[in-house]
Amino acid sequence: MRGERGNPGHTALDMLGSAGKITSSAFLHDGTTRFQKVNPMAGQDHKHEHHDHEHGSELSETQLRVRALETVLTEKGYIDSETIDQLIEAYETQIGPHNGARVIARAWVDPGFKKDLLQDASKAVAKLGYVSRVGDHLIAVENTPRVHNMIVCTLCSCYPWEVLGLPPVWYKSAPYRSRAVKDPRGVLADFETSLPADTEIRVWDSTAEARYIVVPMRPEGTEGWSEEQLAQLVSRDSMIGTRLADRPEKTQ
Ligand code: FE
Repeated sequence: MRGERGNPGHTALDMLGSAGKITSSAFLHDGTTRFQKVNPMAGQDHKHEHHDHEHGSELSETQLRVRALETVLTEKGYIDSETIDQLIEAYETQIGPHNGARVIARAWVDPGFKKDLLQDASKAVAKLGYVSRVGDHLIAVENTPRVHNMIVCTLCSCYPWEVLGLPPVWYKSAPYRSRAVKDPRGVLADFETSLPADTEIRVWDSTAEARYIVVPMRPEGTEGWSEEQLAQLVSRDSMIGTRLADRPEKTQ
């Protein structure tokens, strides 16, 4: 496959390139890429050299793009690869929905904490050690028998990373983003979640400033359970609002 393509993935690298000395020369949909030093004024007509690469890379197109971007940013001194490694390790090993599950379990057993959480979730989760690096505001919305909450980012993929980790692929997908608003019950049905007909469904649209976490209803039959036991019932999806908290028999 050859020829010119209008690939929006160029933009960031090309902008960096026009400001300095390195730019991407080609991003092809077959997943090949290469760098070259260029004259900053060159390439503005978007004529890129395209080469066939017999020595295929095992990396996906996205991985190649990420790697390319990281290389450029590192060379320009905007980022430090050690810091990036630490961040990736944190998201792989420490940050994930188990943090959110702890928050929910605490809210279920501690009315004072639940009140704080619903009042100012950023502040409440910070007390448990979960702090957003993005500087956004976390808002907790509580499910009740009358109201069920569901979270979406219609624009892109805003998500409360500090408590849920990285968003699942479906959360970022166009069908979820549009259908969550137009047909929330249909989306819930896809997740095998059915609610009474008179339960109101509220859909919250996340932004860069405001991100949401759902406080699911505590399942019946969990009286006397410890926070650790209760946290086992809180799935990631239940904190996005596409599922309910698991029933106790599921973990026993
Ligand atoms: Fe977003």
